[in-house]
Amino acid sequence: MSHSQRIRIGISACLLGEPVRYDGGHKRLPFADQELSRHFDFLNICPEKAIGMGVPRPTIRLVGDPENPQLIGSSDSSLNVTDAMQTFAKDTTPTLTDISGYILCAKSPSCGMERVPVYDEKGNGLGKVGVGLFARQLMATHPLLPVEENGRLNDVHLRENFVLRVVAYARWQALIAAGITASGLEEFHRRHKFLLLAHNQAIYREIGPIVAEAGSIEDKANRYIAKFMETLKHIASTKNHTNTLMHIQGFFKDHLDAEDRLKLTETIRDYAAGQLPLLVPLEMLSHYLKKYHVDYLLDQYYFDPYPRDLKLRMGL
Ligand code: SF4
Repeated sequence: MSHSQRIRIGISACLLGEPVRYDGGHKRLPFADQELSRHFDFLNICPEKAIGMGVPRPTIRLVGDPENPQLIGSSDSSLNVTDAMQTFAKDTTPTLTDISGYILCAKSPSCGMERVPVYDEKGNGLGKVGVGLFARQLMATHPLLPVEENGRLNDVHLRENFVLRVVAYARWQALIAAGITASGLEEFHRRHKFLLLAHNQAIYREIGPIVAEAGSIEDKANRYIAKFMETLKHIASTKNHTNTLMHIQGFFKDHLDAEDRLKLTETIRDYAAGQLPLLVPLEMLSHYLKKYHVDYLLDQYYFDPYPRDLKLRMGL
């Protein structure tokens, strides 16, 4: 998939600045509406508004068993919207087949992805052990869908990792939509090789054999993408990036003279020591790729995982 095709991301509506919170406020996430919006389309959903709770509205919270809580009014326990929210979530989430990721609003009893406060029936706090009811159904219906929260997206590593997974998942969805074939799966795997290596070398070694197995292509594809998304979820460490860069460096040993080889080695070493950002060795390698026409590497997504102007590798 080229970067020019628009990818769709689901998002809690308040994060796009819609005044839909209980108090008529919002939780605008500038990264979404100023940065991501240049490349991605959004599908905004406010589950509480969707079930007919107005704005403003009484606040609600998770009550009871953290694994199967009720959604109850914070100050009026006779307000119970559990069934309404569950019905909405069960009806809506299966229809969300054209999104490639979801950004949820943290701490919300409807939208929170994790660490949402739960209370017992007497109103005592049980800790931040819950998941918002809509978010829970979303993740259960779409276990492969990349999902993140607004607060966590301020972390440069989590932010980079989320967008990387969204774009990779969109490529997979396009492949499936076009009709998966054995050669399509092989090509997909080949072009993600170094990206996968940078994220987790151990799982990378488990994922390759799936491509080569006999058996139905649909079955292989399902097992492949589950492992693929699991691999990319690991934050790519400096150590894994270093190994990946060194691996790629090996392809140039016949092309570079001694001076250039040494410079490349030093650059990778300085990156490994935290003295240079990842972009420096990467730019150097991609320059050599183009210069020496190393065809096998030219189309690796590792060099071009998402739109450049999102500047996601600046802090790595
Ligand atoms: S957190 Fe979810 S339910 Fe609450 S205002 Fe935002 S979109 Fe609506």
